[in-house]
Amino acid sequence: MLERRYRLLGHNSPLFYQKPLHLVRGEGVWLWDADGNRYLDAYNNVPCVGHCHPHVVEAMHRQAATLNVHTRYLHENILRYVERLTAKFAPPLAMAMLACSGSEANEIALRMARQQTGAQGILVTDLAYHGNTEAVAETGIAFMPEAKTTRRVRAFASPDAYRGPEGLSGEALTAHYLESVRAAIEDFQSQGIGVAGILICPAFANEGLLEAPPGFVEKAVAMVRAAGGLYIADEVQGGFGRTGAYWWSHEAYGITPDIVTLGKPMGNGFPISGVIASSAMIESFGSWGMYFNTFAGTPVACAVANAVLDVLENERLPESAVSTGAYLAAGLRSLQERHSLIGDVRDKGLFMAVELVSDRASRAPASAESGRLINLMRERGVLISRLGRFDNVLKLRPPLPFRPEHADILLATLDECLAAL
Ligand code: PMP
Repeated sequence: MLERRYRLLGHNSPLFYQKPLHLVRGEGVWLWDADGNRYLDAYNNVPCVGHCHPHVVEAMHRQAATLNVHTRYLHENILRYVERLTAKFAPPLAMAMLACSGSEANEIALRMARQQTGAQGILVTDLAYHGNTEAVAETGIAFMPEAKTTRRVRAFASPDAYRGPEGLSGEALTAHYLESVRAAIEDFQSQGIGVAGILICPAFANEGLLEAPPGFVEKAVAMVRAAGGLYIADEVQGGFGRTGAYWWSHEAYGITPDIVTLGKPMGNGFPISGVIASSAMIESFGSWGMYFNTFAGTPVACAVANAVLDVLENERLPESAVSTGAYLAAGLRSLQERHSLIGDVRDKGLFMAVELVSDRASRAPASAESGRLINLMRERGVLISRLGRFDNVLKLRPPLPFRPEHADILLATLDECLAAL
């Protein structure tokens, strides 16, 4: 299969693990490979209500067998869905535009911010990933090394309370990181580009689930708004009850974004994404340039998305994410006491980052060890991954039906693998 894959998809189509997995079935938090081995999924957030949830599968099947057309006809599913979805946002976020991927949602958000402000400049973190369209890829500075930065995008230093400059903490650390935001804004202004907005994942997920120093996000957004720009919250990873006692990761800071983008878990694997903004902004954007997306918001897509909301609500998954997340985080912190390799544990709801270091005092990243560890975990039946500036941060982000008994398996396996390194 690997040979065929290389021949058909090339050698640069990313694969997980030294020994890639050939998965054939999923159910809840479990996955099975072609040899019948079972794996605990502690990585995938897209199947947020669990792999192949029967209620979602049934809704998709029933609607696909009835009608599937684009959105230029009236249909109840899209209205019901957008009604339910927008009710979960603070005013004035009251209207939606639907799309099929997180990249598309961010593409719309960038166009909207530029159209609304008449400016071009977008600020992002220097470790951001927001998607793969031409305009959105400009925001992934770390992923396009030849470009580094473009005329319309400036990166500021990813705010990191664990890896900040030696001796700085609290307000001083906040001021240090804000300086980088200020410089980017000034650069845009001096070049006549202007500030259209700041695009951030409020959980700083791709950056390594960073903990920003106190007040950083609030102050950075205030600086951008003062310069005429908008606050775009990318909830593609952090949304739908993943990151804490709320539905959206931006709620952690108590400021309402101007534009929110959604994706990944929205359809539990079915491609559906969206942009939420005020009615005024969406009406203005729509009258400026028509937006239509053939596969977005179809009766099937919205049947699936409605079913995902049903399960999240009926099974109270955002609430259980908080309690299981706290349980798992406590377990990871007790592993930290016994394994010096664990330098930092960060948790936001049912999303954990475990930063591995070869020396706690210097915080030297244990990048090679983290690579060995995720492969060892895979050999022992638990799926996780890693990320971060130095690829030394374990990323634990299971489907939300993950319970304490699953956390126990993850913790015991991690304990064994850390000892076996
Ligand atoms: N935003 C964030 C924060 C993401 O993590 C990703 C995907 N990793 C995207 C946007 C892009 O989403 P998609 O792959 O659906 O285009």
